[in-house]
Amino acid sequence: MYGVKLYSVPKNLNTTIKLWQELGFNTLFIGQDCKTDSDFLEQLQHEGFFVNLIEPVFLADEKTDPKLLALTKDGSPAIDGWVRFVCPTNKEYLESFYQRFEKDSTLNVNSLSLDFIRFFQFWEIITPTDSNTSLDTLKETCFCPRCQEEQTAFLESGKGKDFGDWRCSIINDITKSCREIMAKSGVTAQGNPKLLGLHAVPWKKSTFNGALSKILGQNLATLSEYVNFFTPMTYHHMMKTDINYIKTLVTDMETQVNKAQLAQKVSRNIPIIPSVQLKNYYRDEKISLEENRQTIETALEACHGNLIYFQWTDIEENPEIINELKKYSHSSS
Ligand SMILES: [Zn+2]
Repeated sequence: MYGVKLYSVPKNLNTTIKLWQELGFNTLFIGQDCKTDSDFLEQLQHEGFFVNLIEPVFLADEKTDPKLLALTKDGSPAIDGWVRFVCPTNKEYLESFYQRFEKDSTLNVNSLSLDFIRFFQFWEIITPTDSNTSLDTLKETCFCPRCQEEQTAFLESGKGKDFGDWRCSIINDITKSCREIMAKSGVTAQGNPKLLGLHAVPWKKSTFNGALSKILGQNLATLSEYVNFFTPMTYHHMMKTDINYIKTLVTDMETQVNKAQLAQKVSRNIPIIPSVQLKNYYRDEKISLEENRQTIETALEACHGNLIYFQWTDIEENPEIINELKKYSHSSS
Protein backbone atom coordinates (compact mmCIF):
# COMPACT_ATOMS: atom_id res chain seq x y z
CA MET A 1 0.00 0.00 0.00
CA TYR A 2 1.52 3.29 -1.12
CA GLY A 3 -0.66 6.36 -1.15
CA VAL A 4 -2.31 9.18 0.70
CA LYS A 5 -5.07 10.14 3.14
CA LEU A 6 -7.81 12.45 1.93
CA TYR A 7 -10.87 13.74 3.72
CA SER A 8 -12.88 15.23 0.85
CA VAL A 9 -13.41 14.34 -2.80
CA PRO A 10 -11.00 16.39 -4.98
CA LYS A 11 -12.67 18.97 -7.21
CA ASN A 12 -10.77 18.13 -10.41
CA LEU A 13 -11.05 14.42 -9.98
CA ASN A 14 -9.76 13.21 -13.35
CA THR A 15 -6.66 15.43 -13.16
CA THR A 16 -6.06 14.38 -9.56
CA ILE A 17 -6.36 10.67 -10.33
CA LYS A 18 -3.80 11.14 -13.13
CA LEU A 19 -1.46 12.86 -10.70
CA TRP A 20 -1.91 10.11 -8.08
CA GLN A 21 -0.97 7.56 -10.74
CA GLU A 22 2.02 9.66 -11.78
CA LEU A 23 3.16 9.69 -8.16
CA GLY A 24 2.87 5.90 -8.03
CA PHE A 25 0.02 5.89 -5.52
CA ASN A 26 -1.97 2.66 -5.47
CA THR A 27 -3.83 3.22 -2.19
CA LEU A 28 -6.19 5.89 -0.86
CA PHE A 29 -7.30 6.24 2.74
CA ILE A 30 -10.53 8.21 2.49
CA GLY A 31 -12.48 10.01 5.21
CA GLN A 32 -16.17 9.63 6.02
CA ASP A 33 -17.13 12.68 3.91
CA CYS A 34 -16.03 10.80 0.77
CA LYS A 35 -18.16 7.70 1.25
CA THR A 36 -21.48 9.05 -0.03
CA ASP A 37 -20.08 9.82 -3.49
CA SER A 38 -20.68 6.46 -5.16
CA ASP A 39 -19.35 7.71 -8.54
CA PHE A 40 -16.09 8.60 -6.83
CA LEU A 41 -15.83 5.16 -5.22
CA GLU A 42 -16.68 3.47 -8.50
CA GLN A 43 -14.08 5.45 -10.42
CA LEU A 44 -11.36 4.61 -7.89
CA GLN A 45 -12.18 0.90 -8.23
CA HIS A 46 -12.20 1.22 -12.00
CA GLU A 47 -8.73 2.80 -11.91
CA GLY A 48 -7.48 -0.05 -9.73
CA PHE A 49 -6.87 1.80 -6.46
CA PHE A 50 -7.00 0.00 -3.13
CA VAL A 51 -9.48 2.12 -1.19
CA ASN A 52 -9.61 2.16 2.59
CA LEU A 53 -12.43 3.97 4.38
CA ILE A 54 -11.40 5.54 7.71
CA GLU A 55 -13.85 4.77 10.55
CA PRO A 56 -13.47 7.10 13.55
CA VAL A 57 -14.83 5.40 16.67
CA PHE A 58 -14.69 7.54 19.81
CA LEU A 59 -13.94 11.00 18.43
CA ALA A 60 -16.52 13.56 19.50
CA ASP A 61 -16.91 17.16 18.42
CA GLU A 62 -18.46 20.36 19.72
CA LYS A 63 -21.93 19.20 18.70
CA THR A 64 -21.65 15.94 20.67
CA ASP A 65 -23.95 15.76 23.70
CA PRO A 66 -21.63 16.49 26.68
CA LYS A 67 -23.33 13.64 28.57
CA LEU A 68 -21.69 11.20 26.15
CA LEU A 69 -18.14 12.34 26.91
CA ALA A 70 -15.66 10.23 28.87
CA LEU A 71 -14.56 11.54 32.26
CA THR A 72 -11.06 11.99 33.64
CA LYS A 73 -10.11 11.04 37.21
CA ASP A 74 -11.15 14.43 38.60
CA GLY A 75 -14.57 14.11 36.95
CA SER A 76 -13.98 16.64 34.17
CA PRO A 77 -14.99 15.75 30.59
CA ALA A 78 -12.39 14.32 28.18
CA ILE A 79 -11.70 17.55 26.28
CA ASP A 80 -8.28 18.86 25.29
CA GLY A 81 -8.47 21.39 22.46
CA TRP A 82 -10.22 19.69 19.51
CA VAL A 83 -9.62 16.27 21.06
CA ARG A 84 -12.87 15.11 22.67
CA PHE A 85 -13.67 11.50 23.43
CA VAL A 86 -16.91 9.63 23.98
CA CYS A 87 -17.14 7.24 26.95
CA PRO A 88 -16.18 3.80 25.61
CA THR A 89 -18.87 1.83 27.47
CA ASN A 90 -21.93 3.76 26.31
CA LYS A 91 -24.04 0.94 24.81
CA GLU A 92 -26.30 3.21 22.74
CA TYR A 93 -23.37 5.07 21.22
CA LEU A 94 -21.60 1.81 20.40
CA GLU A 95 -24.77 0.37 18.89
CA SER A 96 -25.10 3.34 16.54
CA PHE A 97 -21.41 3.04 15.65
CA TYR A 98 -21.82 -0.68 14.81
CA GLN A 99 -24.83 0.12 12.63
CA ARG A 100 -22.83 2.68 10.67
CA PHE A 101 -19.86 0.31 10.46
CA GLU A 102 -22.02 -2.53 9.16
CA LYS A 103 -23.46 -0.27 6.47
CA ASP A 104 -19.99 1.00 5.54
CA SER A 105 -18.67 -2.55 5.28
CA THR A 106 -20.99 -3.05 2.28
CA LEU A 107 -19.65 0.02 0.42
CA ASN A 108 -17.57 -0.17 -2.72
CA VAL A 109 -14.21 -0.08 -0.90
CA ASN A 110 -11.45 -2.61 -0.19
CA SER A 111 -10.96 -2.11 3.52
CA LEU A 112 -12.09 -0.23 6.62
CA SER A 113 -9.70 1.13 9.26
CA LEU A 114 -10.64 1.92 12.83
CA ASP A 115 -9.44 5.36 13.90
CA PHE A 116 -9.77 6.93 17.38
CA ILE A 117 -10.19 3.38 18.67
CA ARG A 118 -8.57 4.07 22.01
CA PHE A 119 -8.91 6.01 25.22
CA PHE A 120 -8.59 9.79 25.41
CA GLN A 121 -5.24 11.56 24.96
CA PHE A 122 -3.96 14.47 22.86
CA TRP A 123 -0.87 12.43 21.87
CA GLU A 124 -0.15 14.70 18.89
CA ILE A 125 1.40 17.30 21.16
CA ILE A 126 3.19 14.87 23.49
CA THR A 127 6.84 14.01 22.79
CA PRO A 128 7.28 10.25 23.35
CA THR A 129 10.76 10.81 24.77
CA ASP A 130 9.75 13.67 27.08
CA SER A 131 11.20 12.95 30.52
CA ASN A 132 8.56 15.08 32.24
CA THR A 133 5.74 12.85 31.00
CA SER A 134 5.01 9.52 32.66
CA LEU A 135 2.22 7.03 33.32
CA ASP A 136 1.22 9.21 36.29
CA THR A 137 1.01 12.52 34.43
CA LEU A 138 -0.99 11.25 31.42
CA LYS A 139 -4.73 11.81 31.55
CA GLU A 140 -6.63 8.63 32.37
CA THR A 141 -10.22 7.88 31.40
CA CYS A 142 -12.96 6.83 31.84
CA PHE A 143 -14.19 7.40 35.37
CA CYS A 144 -17.89 7.86 34.74
CA PRO A 145 -20.09 5.85 37.17
CA ARG A 146 -20.81 3.16 34.57
CA CYS A 147 -17.13 2.66 33.71
CA GLN A 148 -16.19 2.58 37.40
CA GLU A 149 -18.77 -0.14 37.95
CA GLU A 150 -17.48 -2.09 34.96
CA GLN A 151 -13.88 -1.74 36.13
CA THR A 152 -14.79 -3.15 39.56
CA ALA A 153 -16.70 -6.07 38.01
CA PHE A 154 -13.82 -6.73 35.58
CA LEU A 155 -11.23 -6.88 38.37
CA GLU A 156 -13.45 -8.97 40.68
CA SER A 157 -14.11 -11.50 37.93
CA GLY A 158 -10.36 -12.01 37.60
CA LYS A 159 -10.37 -11.14 33.89
CA GLY A 160 -7.47 -8.78 34.41
CA LYS A 161 -5.24 -7.26 37.05
CA ASP A 162 -5.59 -3.50 36.57
CA PHE A 163 -7.30 -0.65 34.74
CA GLY A 164 -4.87 -1.08 31.84
CA ASP A 165 -6.14 -4.63 31.26
CA TRP A 166 -9.71 -3.34 31.46
CA ARG A 167 -9.00 -0.65 28.86
CA CYS A 168 -7.39 -3.18 26.50
CA SER A 169 -10.36 -5.53 26.91
CA ILE A 170 -12.76 -2.75 25.82
CA ILE A 171 -10.73 -1.91 22.70
CA ASN A 172 -10.18 -5.61 21.88
CA ASP A 173 -13.89 -6.39 22.16
CA ILE A 174 -14.89 -3.56 19.80
CA THR A 175 -12.24 -4.55 17.26
CA LYS A 176 -13.37 -8.17 17.48
CA SER A 177 -17.00 -7.13 16.91
CA CYS A 178 -15.98 -5.13 13.83
CA ARG A 179 -14.10 -8.16 12.53
CA GLU A 180 -17.26 -10.27 12.98
CA ILE A 181 -19.42 -7.68 11.20
CA MET A 182 -17.01 -7.66 8.26
CA ALA A 183 -16.95 -11.43 8.11
CA LYS A 184 -20.69 -11.28 7.39
CA SER A 185 -20.87 -8.48 4.84
CA GLY A 186 -17.41 -7.36 3.88
CA VAL A 187 -16.64 -8.64 0.39
CA THR A 188 -15.19 -6.44 -2.37
CA ALA A 189 -16.64 -6.06 -5.88
CA GLN A 190 -14.03 -8.60 -6.99
CA GLY A 191 -15.22 -11.06 -4.35
CA ASN A 192 -12.21 -10.71 -2.05
CA PRO A 193 -12.64 -10.39 1.70
CA LYS A 194 -12.38 -6.78 2.87
CA LEU A 195 -9.52 -5.96 5.19
CA LEU A 196 -9.68 -4.39 8.64
CA GLY A 197 -7.03 -1.92 9.76
CA LEU A 198 -6.37 -0.06 13.00
CA HIS A 199 -4.84 3.38 13.49
CA ALA A 200 -2.23 2.95 16.20
CA VAL A 201 -0.99 5.75 18.42
CA PRO A 202 2.72 6.15 17.56
CA TRP A 203 4.12 5.09 20.92
CA LYS A 204 6.49 2.18 21.38
CA LYS A 205 5.70 -0.63 23.80
CA SER A 206 8.14 0.90 26.29
CA THR A 207 7.03 4.55 25.86
CA PHE A 208 5.95 5.95 29.25
CA ASN A 209 6.18 2.44 30.76
CA GLY A 210 3.59 0.85 28.53
CA ALA A 211 1.12 3.74 28.21
CA LEU A 212 0.03 2.57 24.73
CA SER A 213 -1.80 -0.35 26.31
CA LYS A 214 -2.19 0.82 29.92
CA ILE A 215 -3.58 4.30 29.27
CA LEU A 216 -4.81 4.14 25.65
CA GLY A 217 -6.00 0.52 25.63
CA GLN A 218 -4.14 -0.45 22.44
CA ASN A 219 -2.49 -3.83 22.95
CA LEU A 220 -1.07 -4.62 19.51
CA ALA A 221 -0.35 -8.23 20.47
CA THR A 222 -3.97 -9.10 21.22
CA LEU A 223 -5.41 -6.78 18.56
CA SER A 224 -3.31 -8.51 15.91
CA GLU A 225 -5.72 -11.43 16.11
CA TYR A 226 -8.48 -9.31 14.54
CA VAL A 227 -6.84 -6.87 12.16
CA ASN A 228 -5.07 -7.19 8.81
CA PHE A 229 -2.82 -4.18 9.27
CA PHE A 230 -1.81 -1.51 11.75
CA THR A 231 -1.29 2.03 10.58
CA PRO A 232 0.61 4.11 13.15
CA MET A 233 0.47 7.88 12.79
CA THR A 234 4.20 8.52 12.78
CA TYR A 235 3.92 12.31 12.64
CA HIS A 236 7.47 13.03 13.82
CA HIS A 237 7.37 16.82 13.47
CA MET A 238 4.30 17.47 15.64
CA MET A 239 5.61 15.04 18.29
CA LYS A 240 9.03 16.73 18.17
CA THR A 241 10.93 13.49 17.60
CA ASP A 242 13.74 12.99 15.09
CA ILE A 243 12.90 11.48 11.71
CA ASN A 244 14.49 8.17 12.65
CA TYR A 245 11.66 7.68 15.16
CA ILE A 246 9.50 6.59 12.19
CA LYS A 247 11.83 3.68 11.60
CA THR A 248 12.35 2.62 15.19
CA LEU A 249 8.59 2.78 15.86
CA VAL A 250 7.74 0.59 12.86
CA THR A 251 10.35 -1.94 13.98
CA ASP A 252 9.03 -1.84 17.57
CA MET A 253 5.47 -2.51 16.39
CA GLU A 254 6.61 -5.29 14.05
CA THR A 255 8.33 -6.94 16.99
CA GLN A 256 5.16 -6.76 19.11
CA VAL A 257 3.07 -8.33 16.34
CA ASN A 258 5.67 -11.00 15.50
CA LYS A 259 6.00 -12.01 19.17
CA ALA A 260 2.23 -12.34 19.42
CA GLN A 261 2.16 -14.52 16.32
CA LEU A 262 4.85 -16.77 17.72
CA ALA A 263 2.93 -17.09 20.99
CA GLN A 264 -0.31 -17.85 19.15
CA LYS A 265 1.55 -20.23 16.84
CA VAL A 266 0.11 -18.50 13.80
CA SER A 267 1.77 -16.78 10.89
CA ARG A 268 -0.30 -14.07 9.26
CA ASN A 269 1.19 -11.17 7.41
CA ILE A 270 0.16 -8.07 9.36
CA PRO A 271 2.04 -5.11 7.91
CA ILE A 272 2.77 -1.95 9.86
CA ILE A 273 1.84 0.84 7.47
CA PRO A 274 3.15 4.16 8.77
CA SER A 275 1.49 7.44 7.93
CA VAL A 276 3.83 10.44 7.73
CA GLN A 277 3.29 14.20 7.73
CA LEU A 278 4.87 16.55 5.17
CA LYS A 279 3.41 19.81 6.51
CA ASN A 280 3.67 21.35 9.98
CA TYR A 281 0.83 20.99 12.48
CA TYR A 282 0.60 22.38 16.03
CA ARG A 283 3.97 24.10 15.55
CA ASP A 284 4.95 27.30 13.74
CA GLU A 285 8.23 25.85 12.46
CA LYS A 286 7.76 24.81 8.83
CA ILE A 287 9.09 21.50 7.52
CA SER A 288 11.89 22.10 5.00
CA LEU A 289 12.08 20.31 1.67
CA GLU A 290 15.20 18.56 2.91
CA GLU A 291 13.35 17.32 5.99
CA ASN A 292 10.52 16.06 3.79
CA ARG A 293 13.04 14.27 1.61
CA GLN A 294 14.55 12.57 4.65
CA THR A 295 11.08 11.70 5.98
CA ILE A 296 10.10 10.00 2.71
CA GLU A 297 13.39 8.13 2.45
CA THR A 298 13.36 6.99 6.07
CA ALA A 299 9.75 5.87 5.93
CA LEU A 300 10.18 4.04 2.62
CA GLU A 301 13.18 2.22 4.02
CA ALA A 302 11.31 1.26 7.19
CA CYS A 303 7.99 0.22 5.76
CA HIS A 304 8.79 -2.29 2.97
CA GLY A 305 6.82 -0.23 0.45
CA ASN A 306 3.81 0.36 2.72
CA LEU A 307 3.42 4.09 3.31
CA ILE A 308 0.53 6.55 3.53
CA TYR A 309 1.08 10.30 3.38
CA PHE A 310 -0.95 12.62 5.59
CA GLN A 311 -2.65 14.27 3.76
CA TRP A 312 -3.54 15.03 0.11
CA THR A 313 -4.37 18.75 0.46
CA ASP A 314 -0.90 19.33 2.00
CA ILE A 315 0.73 17.74 -1.04
CA GLU A 316 -1.59 19.25 -3.63
CA GLU A 317 -0.83 22.81 -2.55
CA ASN A 318 2.93 22.32 -2.62
CA PRO A 319 4.59 21.81 -6.06
CA GLU A 320 7.97 21.21 -4.40
CA ILE A 321 6.59 18.20 -2.53
CA ILE A 322 4.89 16.90 -5.68
CA ASN A 323 8.19 17.10 -7.58
CA GLU A 324 9.95 15.37 -4.73
CA LEU A 325 7.39 12.56 -4.60
CA LYS A 326 7.70 11.97 -8.34
CA LYS A 327 11.27 10.78 -7.71
CA TYR A 328 9.94 7.98 -5.52
CA SER A 329 7.03 6.91 -7.69
CA HIS A 330 8.59 3.55 -8.47
CA SER A 331 10.21 2.77 -5.13
CA SER A 332 7.10 1.38 -3.49
CA SER A 333 5.32 -1.90 -3.93
ZN1 LIG B 1 -17.31 5.94 30.98
